[in-house]
Amino acid sequence: MVLWLINIVVSTPHLIIVGGGAAGFFAGLTVKDASPALPVTIMESANQVLRKVSISGGGRCNVTHACFVPRELVKFYPRGKRELLGAFHKFQPRDTMAWFESRGVPLKTEADGRVFPVSNSAQSIVDCLTREARRLNVSVRLNAAVSAVARQPDGRFALTLADGECLVASRLLLACGGARNAGGARLAESLGHSSSAPVPSLFSFRVRDERLKNLAGVTAQNVTVSAAGLQQSGALLITHEGLSGPAILKLSAWGARLFAGENYRFTVSVDWTGGRDVGQQFTAKRRRAGQRRLCNDPQFNIPRRLWEWLARGAEIPADRHWHDLRKFEETALARALTASQFPVTGKSAGREEMVTCGGIPTREVDFRTMQSKLRPNLYFAGEILDVDGLTGGFNFQNAWTTGWLAGRALAG
Ligand SMILES: Cc1cc2nc3c(=O)[nH]c(=O)nc-3n(C[C@H](O)[C@H](O)[C@H](O)COP(=O)(O)OP(=O)(O)OC[C@H]3O[C@@H](n4cnc5c(N)ncnc54)[C@H](O)[C@@H]3O)c2cc1C
Repeated sequence: MVLWLINIVVSTPHLIIVGGGAAGFFAGLTVKDASPALPVTIMESANQVLRKVSISGGGRCNVTHACFVPRELVKFYPRGKRELLGAFHKFQPRDTMAWFESRGVPLKTEADGRVFPVSNSAQSIVDCLTREARRLNVSVRLNAAVSAVARQPDGRFALTLADGECLVASRLLLACGGARNAGGARLAESLGHSSSAPVPSLFSFRVRDERLKNLAGVTAQNVTVSAAGLQQSGALLITHEGLSGPAILKLSAWGARLFAGENYRFTVSVDWTGGRDVGQQFTAKRRRAGQRRLCNDPQFNIPRRLWEWLARGAEIPADRHWHDLRKFEETALARALTASQFPVTGKSAGREEMVTCGGIPTREVDFRTMQSKLRPNLYFAGEILDVDGLTGGFNFQNAWTTGWLAGRALAG
């Protein structure tokens, strides 16, 4: 990747953006696109910009999701739903796709709606953003960690870098990323904002259950999982550690605060049939294939190994035929199929913890402009906000949308 570094001290830039990630970059480009004369400097603490973009989506960068109806799109955001509705009416996935495609990055939409560069390489996105920044003359400073910020009597912002250097900005955009990176929240707090405590979202469930040991690697395509009064559906993957896959990740996102409050100890119930009518299916099997051995005849698209395990758990004899199934066996099997209970003993520390729940409360920000409601000329964008989405490109869409809104307002 070609990186460039402005070493000279920019004494009084008009606008300083703290954070050279997706949101900060998109905001900076939007400002310069609309107002080329406005000096914009991005301060990035790392020695590289757009690091998360470069590793995102398994190196492919799931850049957005092909859901073009804001009312539907917001349903993928456990936090920030209400505020994003208006924001998506102004800049939504269709706009993101047009933005990248018109700048030379062809995109493709996969069957599940996730959008990737045709190159299957996140580097295409990184290259596009950095190329645009050079074209538009956005200054980028690497290894420039902003460690403190204070509001001066004249209303401008005095920034102190980790190496002691001081800068002054008349307008400031904080785009420091997720709440796991406490630095951004601290900067906002020093300017009078609050920040809700960060807890992980999008994690797998650790389940210590000997019964699951031999099932590691099995995926059930259509299950419904419930815990703490919440319910989600989708594929479920049994791992060496416990339960994972889209259904579990979705549940973890919606219940992020609840599960943290329980210290990740709760019971998850799994309906392996995805809500199908078990009694009706049993009756049909008895009638049409009564002579088949139940243990060898998986139903509801349940993988064979899992089906055998469920039947064994319900104490169905291995040689039981459908037409011989006893009432109490049927009841036990129906229960195993629709309400398997697993004690969760923790969350996985796996790589899928891709976003945090928590950050600057949305009520403190005007989502029409991304300006602080508490401090004039202070703006926010991206994951620093208490906004997070499910996996599928929704988190980047939040970064693009809020970055674009902030950029437009700052340019105006
Ligand atoms: C492994 C992984 C894969 C992911 N894959 C996807 C995906 O495919 N699709 C998707 O939609 N989402 C994905 N996400 C989530 C997505 O990457 C984030 O939601 C998104 O990057 C948030 O953008 P941001 O600009 O707000 O924050 P970030 O990308 O985190 O950028 C913030 C930047 O600010 C810098 N910074 C922080 N504090 C300071 C400071 N004090 N001074 C100067 N600089 C500072 C940081 O170094 C960082 O570069 C993934 C996340 C991870 C971790």
